[in-house]
Amino acid sequence: MPRPIRASIDLEALRHNYLVSKHRAGSARAFAVVKANAYGHGLDRAIRALAPVADGFALLDLAEARQLRAAGVTAPIALLEGFFEPADLADIVALGLTPAIHSEAQLAMLERARPEGAIDVLLKINSGMNRLGFTADRFGAALARLRAMPWVRGITLMTHFARADDEVGIGAQLATFKAITAGLDLPVSLANSAALLRFPEAVGQIARPGIMLYGGSPMPDLHGADELGLRPVMTLTSEIIGVQEIAAGERVGYGGTFEASGPTRVGVVACGYADGYPRHAPTGTPILVGGRRTRTLGRVSMDMLVCDLSHLEDAGVGSPVTLWGDGLPADEVATAAGTISYELFCALAPRVPVSVR
Ligand code: PLP
Repeated sequence: MPRPIRASIDLEALRHNYLVSKHRAGSARAFAVVKANAYGHGLDRAIRALAPVADGFALLDLAEARQLRAAGVTAPIALLEGFFEPADLADIVALGLTPAIHSEAQLAMLERARPEGAIDVLLKINSGMNRLGFTADRFGAALARLRAMPWVRGITLMTHFARADDEVGIGAQLATFKAITAGLDLPVSLANSAALLRFPEAVGQIARPGIMLYGGSPMPDLHGADELGLRPVMTLTSEIIGVQEIAAGERVGYGGTFEASGPTRVGVVACGYADGYPRHAPTGTPILVGGRRTRTLGRVSMDMLVCDLSHLEDAGVGSPVTLWGDGLPADEVATAAGTISYELFCALAPRVPVSVR
């Protein structure tokens, strides 16, 4: 008997969420961000759902880009971190990819490579996140070097926002970006999911929605996914595999961190941190048993976690459990565990069987 844990991926919901992002983008194109194995949902599955509708894709490495081209995707593909080896450039040209250029080292590689065939690039500007990209003092020279290379065809100016999801917003970064790029008539790519949903003035010509495609809210403190018209894509389910009746004063799990204050019926769920459930989810994290909401108790173990069945008399061994997804937004579980839905999705362990609906 296999363990009852399963993840199911709703491709229709993924397509729906992409279309929400596209609607928000208005006349701009929306490149679906499918890096990290489509945020843990499976790149091949995401391609199946999105290839017929997506204006383009954005991801991290050549291997993922090859997978898209092998699946017949002809739409533009942006490489968000560009390339790391001169040898990659031949593949980038052959596959028709659009790398982000964010460093002098990459400019030098591109100059030396003199690839046969033209290449479109994203020129990444550091407007305040201080991760990748050219700052104001280095941007002009970088653009001039790109423009001097006859094999560079299209240049799109790009930046990434650090706080599109919180009260600080994008004002300062957008102002910096505009100051750096003033007077240039080039297309721009600015918005991640949060910016796309909150700041229509910052969409540019290419939006880069990621988490919203997978039904996570980029700002769960401000707006739930449901409220944003997004549908859950990944649903993680399991079953109750054991039940214990404990008395007041008895404790549950490693470290005995939960102590019953009265008679308590606890259910053991076949799901643990080795399946991708966050170990730091505390007592009280929401969970559904038989479609009804209850709470986890004590520490999450490697293969199991424990929940409170005290008010669910008819629940027992074999009762279905939803860890997140349909009926229980991943954002709620993530918030309770002090993390973000991105991390829950990306952490889904390879040992969890996945089905598609
Ligand atoms: N653009 C870039 C450069 C990114 O690194 C990411 C994700 O981290 C995204 C867009 C998509 O962001 P989100 O998933 O918040 O929409």
